[in-house]
Amino acid sequence: VRVTVVGSADAFNSLGRAHSCYLVEGEGCGPAMIDFGATALSALRRARREPTEIEAFIITHLHGDHIGGFPFLLIDGMFNEVRTRRMHVVGPLGTKSQLDAQLRVAYGVVADFRRPYELDIEELAPGESTNAAGFEVRAFAAAHMDPPDAPLCLRLVGPDGRSVAFSGDTEMCEGLFSAADGADLLIAECTGMRPPAGRHCTWDQWHEQLPRIRAKRVLLSHLGKDVRERVPVLLEEMRMGPRLAFADDGQIIPV
Ligand SMILES: [Zn+2]
Repeated sequence: VRVTVVGSADAFNSLGRAHSCYLVEGEGCGPAMIDFGATALSALRRARREPTEIEAFIITHLHGDHIGGFPFLLIDGMFNEVRTRRMHVVGPLGTKSQLDAQLRVAYGVVADFRRPYELDIEELAPGESTNAAGFEVRAFAAAHMDPPDAPLCLRLVGPDGRSVAFSGDTEMCEGLFSAADGADLLIAECTGMRPPAGRHCTWDQWHEQLPRIRAKRVLLSHLGKDVRERVPVLLEEMRMGPRLAFADDGQIIPV
């Protein structure tokens, strides 16, 4: 399995990076795209990848920096690089209505046009799992939004048993630790240096929790300006060697 970091920034595109999103692919699985924020289509093409290649779009939660690129993705498949095969979307509860509302706000009646591809949206509650693009996708509860929103931490397991966990956006919570438990790689958010940072993880917290995370490697992403500017110092501070890295746009990581 290999992961391409398409975007690695927080909601504010700090230091010019794209909103956090990733491509996961391997022998007999993928490509699956995790999240698709407002800047994702631009970042995907910068990585020289096309939306038509992607088998499944998997969403951690319904915030604009994680799903705001969907109107552009949907119309790209209608009018630009025309998509004919099914688009499989997996997301948290509320994904169907949220994607429809976004498309209506962005392009009005285009939402009712006949599409050349089938759009198949599957909603997952925490604790549920499904199959998408050859991966087993397991959903865990994230702590980032209030009900009825049910944001997710995710774990994708490939046919060879290799697994990648994604924090999505969350505070430190049990769902995050469960998703990471035994994973070959955890891609986790580290939005700020210290609280308050909204309902997000901070470096101060990771500094304490990293030794307790049971993933083989950790890639910190969704980086705010303060964190990214200190990356060399933070790596030095943790002394975890290749077990810890920070994400940057365009990285390709074998798992
Ligand atoms: Zn969020």
